Amino acid sequence: MADTEFHFLKDAEAKYRGMFENAVEGIYQSTPDGQYLAVNTALARMYGYDCPADLLGEVSDIQSQIYADPTFRERFKQQIDRDGFVHDLEYQVRQRNGTIIWISESARAVRENGDVRFYEGFIDNITARKEAEAERARLEKQMLQAQKMDAVGTLAGGMAHDFNNILCAILGYTELSLFDPKVEGRTRDNLQSILKSAQRAQDLIRRILTFSRPKETERRPLKLSGIIQEAVKLLNATLPSSIKICLSTKTNEDVVVADATEIHQVIMNLGTNAGHAMKSNGGNLDYEVELIALNASQAAALSVPAGSFVHLAVRDTGTGMNPEVLERIFEPFFTTKAPGCGTGLGLPLVQKIVTRTGGKISVESEEGTGTTFHIYLPQSRDPVEEPPSAEHKVLRGRNERILIVDDEIPVLSMMQQRLRQMGYRVTTRADSVEALQTFRAEPAKFDLIITDHTMPSMLGAELAELAGDLRPDVPVVLMTGLNEPPDFLNSPYASRRAVFQKPIDFVELSRRLRRFLDKPHGHSHRKPGALRQPLPFLS
Ligand code: ADP
Ligand code: MG
Repeated sequence: MADTEFHFLKDAEAKYRGMFENAVEGIYQSTPDGQYLAVNTALARMYGYDCPADLLGEVSDIQSQIYADPTFRERFKQQIDRDGFVHDLEYQVRQRNGTIIWISESARAVRENGDVRFYEGFIDNITARKEAEAERARLEKQMLQAQKMDAVGTLAGGMAHDFNNILCAILGYTELSLFDPKVEGRTRDNLQSILKSAQRAQDLIRRILTFSRPKETERRPLKLSGIIQEAVKLLNATLPSSIKICLSTKTNEDVVVADATEIHQVIMNLGTNAGHAMKSNGGNLDYEVELIALNASQAAALSVPAGSFVHLAVRDTGTGMNPEVLERIFEPFFTTKAPGCGTGLGLPLVQKIVTRTGGKISVESEEGTGTTFHIYLPQSRDPVEEPPSAEHKVLRGRNERILIVDDEIPVLSMMQQRLRQMGYRVTTRADSVEALQTFRAEPAKFDLIITDHTMPSMLGAELAELAGDLRPDVPVVLMTGLNEPPDFLNSPYASRRAVFQKPIDFVELSRRLRRFLDKPHGHSHRKPGALRQPLPFLS
């Protein structure tokens, strides 16, 4: 070999070696049974080794160390022996320290005289891409779930709207008939059964509406353990005695800003589920309340802001759940219970309430061992507010005159009868434009207006606005089926406005009416004939 030719070859060799050594992709040459003949630094590093020499060891050791799953190796061999190459084959390998990474491999079989002599391949580390894909899939799933919840909310809200109106009339007329002392015996019993069922329906509709009406809550600082105590009393009465219920409170500062009824619902739902899981064998149901401080990274893991949280753990020793069930428990209408026993709405509701309260829920469960739900609610440092007094009587009217407006005649006449019984004088209008004319003719005659919102000729909120222009101090109670009109409470007359959801809670309504009508504010227009003394309570 001539000298120049030798130099040329040496240069070429150095050049290609440099390309091989400095490539960012992993490059190798191996025997068909997997022994590495040459490996570049990038590949050695990718697999967690210091230098290429570490990979040139015994075939079986290296191969079984690297392939996270031996079937990957078989798939690779099958394909390359059949086609002569593989292109972007994606699989997992194990680094020296045990970490699993994703790689993409392109390789070809080098033949000599028909026999495969080597494999030569290029390998890319695609772990970051794979992780991003998994994260995206997880987010998509989460979004899908959120959309499903929204759809259920809209659907339920729409149905509940129509159902409310019907229920409103059923409840109202039944209560009215029961007020009549002449209704006795069998008929009274029947009416009482109707009332009970209608109330159950009302309860159900309220529960369904919790999905679509995020506003209808009364939040105040309350002690979580206080609500649990109340709920435990109820659970003790309903669950079999083979289930021991225990509440342990490790803090005195378990104050959260929440709606008491909603939190009660959360505790009861989790309790009944646990009770169901321990029905046949009994067991323990433990509620544990503690205070925890979440630092930035713990908080990020739960996707809540860092800070102090009240942590409630609800632990049962029941049947537990398998991963397939566990995966779906927060899906609306998902239930494993027999038809008629479960609605599948319990946990979605719990989740919705917790999220709405600014908290987070998670769950651990093992089949045959039990289940623990964890709820984290932001701690509040505000002083605990006592709930409004539990006085459950209808407050009597003092003969004030009320204008009632509703386009649905059964609702209208039910309201009329009901308010008369409460001690008011009542004028009714089934058309909002007519109602406005009536009011315009004699604005001082009416002490208060109760109006439906959704009406064909003019919306209740508009009627309220126009009536307010005629007489700014006239109080208006707006009855709504589903949607609270957004501007109603922003009006200049806001202090004289209230919104009530149908079906109307008459105890609440009666209180609200008194708050409006007993205000000194309204006295200037009080009819001289209106009574100053409350009428005796009508039972
Ligand atoms: P429902 O109680 O009406 O079935 P939920 O939303 O409350 O609806 O619960 C959904 C499902 O989650 C239940 O049917 C049950 O399979 C499972 N589940 C919930 N809580 C528990 C628990 N504590 N132990 C075992 N399974 C549970
Ligand atoms: Mg349930």
